[in-house]
Amino acid sequence: MQSPTSMHYLRSAGLLTWAAAIVLLACSGLVTAQELPQTGAEKADWSRHTGYEELVDYIFEVQGLTDNMLIRELTVTPEGRTVFLIMLGDPPTATPGTAWLSGKPTVLLVENVHGGELSGREGGLQLLRELALGELKPLLEKINVLYIPSINPDGANRQPRPTRGNSHGYDMNRDYVVMETAEISAVVGQVLTRWWPDVHVDAHNGGSAPYNLTYQVTLDPSADGELVALANGPMYEAVKAHMESQDLKFFWYSGPRQNRDTGEWAWGTTEPLVRKQHSYSGFQNMIALLFECPGPRGDLELQARSQREGQEGLLRFVAENGGLIRSTIMAARRRTIEGAVDQVYLGLEATDYPGTVKFFIRDPDREGEYTEVEGTRKTLYRPTGTRQRAWAYAFDGNLHDIANLLRRHAIEVEKLMEPVAITVQKYRVTSAEWADRPYQNHIMLSVEVEVFEEEEILEAGTFIVRSAQNGGILAAHLLDPDTQDSAVSWNFLDHMGIRAPSPPPDQTGTTAQGQQRTGAVPAMGGGRQRGGQRQGSVLPIYRIMTPIRIKAVILP
Ligand SMILES: [Zn+2]
Repeated sequence: MQSPTSMHYLRSAGLLTWAAAIVLLACSGLVTAQELPQTGAEKADWSRHTGYEELVDYIFEVQGLTDNMLIRELTVTPEGRTVFLIMLGDPPTATPGTAWLSGKPTVLLVENVHGGELSGREGGLQLLRELALGELKPLLEKINVLYIPSINPDGANRQPRPTRGNSHGYDMNRDYVVMETAEISAVVGQVLTRWWPDVHVDAHNGGSAPYNLTYQVTLDPSADGELVALANGPMYEAVKAHMESQDLKFFWYSGPRQNRDTGEWAWGTTEPLVRKQHSYSGFQNMIALLFECPGPRGDLELQARSQREGQEGLLRFVAENGGLIRSTIMAARRRTIEGAVDQVYLGLEATDYPGTVKFFIRDPDREGEYTEVEGTRKTLYRPTGTRQRAWAYAFDGNLHDIANLLRRHAIEVEKLMEPVAITVQKYRVTSAEWADRPYQNHIMLSVEVEVFEEEEILEAGTFIVRSAQNGGILAAHLLDPDTQDSAVSWNFLDHMGIRAPSPPPDQTGTTAQGQQRTGAVPAMGGGRQRGGQRQGSVLPIYRIMTPIRIKAVILP
């Protein structure tokens, strides 16, 4: 169904007439640079960013001049703005199936997820013109490009100034796990898990001057190592070389940190959480990249150019190395599907890469100048704990919310057709702490658990999630309760009354009876008294460690 928004623009007689005139000019080869569509920011000589209605006008103007562009309505924001997915290719592919059959790699560019970070929005609009009408047209013979010009138009439109979050204050780049916004639900549900792009870029304003653009690949070691190595190696070098050919500085995200005690410098980054784009898509076996310009204050024209050139450099590399990229991604997917990943990583700590690098910091003595120092690169993340990967997870057949969460991530969930008696690993809660302030409308929960084995009868209707599947790495992160973005941490079991063990009576003087009166909700399994001490809850999510044969049906 057409939304009122797009129909409005299509019905705009002025636009249609104008576009028709340009098509005639284009067909006769008479389009000159001056007649090409201009973004709102360009028309305003960069005194402001391109407004939403200007953006919509512009993308349809460009489409009216090319055979290589299709536009899909992706979703509608809470304030009623249509979010568009643009498909570029020669020929353009309207569906994931045709993209797959084309044999070409597919790159997804998502701009402006933080509404106030406009560099990618403006640079992307310019890149669109280059790809559809300009000198980058030949790239479309070798790659499919999926392009979302603004995933957060509501945030970008806030007054008096654009905001990071959407109109409800959600930080949409923290929504990849629970998908509570329409916009990120659409990115995950309609783009990532349908098209399975090979490369997924998210454009932001962050990083550190004097670098015009900083770059980060999935940092979580759960992501496939060879896929990350390609992105950290030849892909990084190619984008850097392209940027430097345009006199633009390029480095890793995000910035310098100084040790106050030793005075030593290190190049650090931000926490790699799966709820963020560049971790999430890595867990889904894509090359996931952050492109961060300094800002958002400062020279919007330069920021747009930096994003445009960075994204162009990336597209050029993908076009020239399509075979390598596709084979690397396919190998990563195969390893995941075959269940070759044998560990679940539970916590992460930043460590140094071997050796040192040189980078720029603000010159302490000269205002507005930079000086080069040498330091370590503290962006290598190692697990603080590991657990053997389960063959499959089993959880209570009443936990539909968890089953649905997994299915929205394209993780296959089965339902047992008849009971199975087996030994499973269970989690007993040893500590449970709810956050002291709300986060994205949640009071997040961190638990620590101990794993123990027990005989169990899994009733008919129990949900089963096998690890050896495309979403297996993500499934483990969601179902092991003590990861940072588990279903348990996002409150999916709060309603069942998770309890930590009570302190031993000799520490508090409280009797077992007293403890029982304060515990309002019956414990879900466990909660037994042992020597006057209440044990922590046993969670209704189990691990099956040894392959078994089961009768089960995959949920539709
Ligand atoms: Zn951002």
